Amino acid sequence: TEQTLVLIKPDGVARGLIGDVIARIERKGLTLAALELRQVPTEVAAAHYAEHSERPFYNDLLEFITSGPVVALVAEGERAIAAFRQLAGGTDPVEKATPGTIRGDFALETQFNIVHGSDSSESAAREIALWFPALNS
Ligand code: ATP
Repeated sequence: TEQTLVLIKPDGVARGLIGDVIARIERKGLTLAALELRQVPTEVAAAHYAEHSERPFYNDLLEFITSGPVVALVAEGERAIAAFRQLAGGTDPVEKATPGTIRGDFALETQFNIVHGSDSSESAAREIALWFPALNS
């Protein structure tokens, strides 16, 4: 089996979508290996999004992800990484995500797209170590 790191971003938490997102993860057949509501320290946000540090939207992204509590969780199951990305839908919630996905159903703007999910097994390992250092050790 596989593990993936999921964040319910501050927009998703503020809009009351925690239960809906977790319900979709569970109905898909994934299980929860870790789950916590937390305020994101700037250093964790910067490490999480290090690959985007040269992008024009990087500062906005850090400001946004630290603007309120997030839910961080580890979802586990067969092909968990791809399975959650399917549930999330594409990054742009209008042009890419389709109805029936989290972003397709709940978001309008690319920055405020409700969830994050690891995009590869390398990213998942790095992100799980960053958010839940005690897990798997
Ligand atoms: P995530 O990594 O959060 O799952 P993703 O892999 O679908 O999203 P990335 O290209 O890695 O998308 O971008 C990371 C995040 O940065 C996006 O989810 C979004 O919140 C933000 N972002 C990406 N592109 C833009 C943009 N053009 N303008 C504003 N924010 C953006």
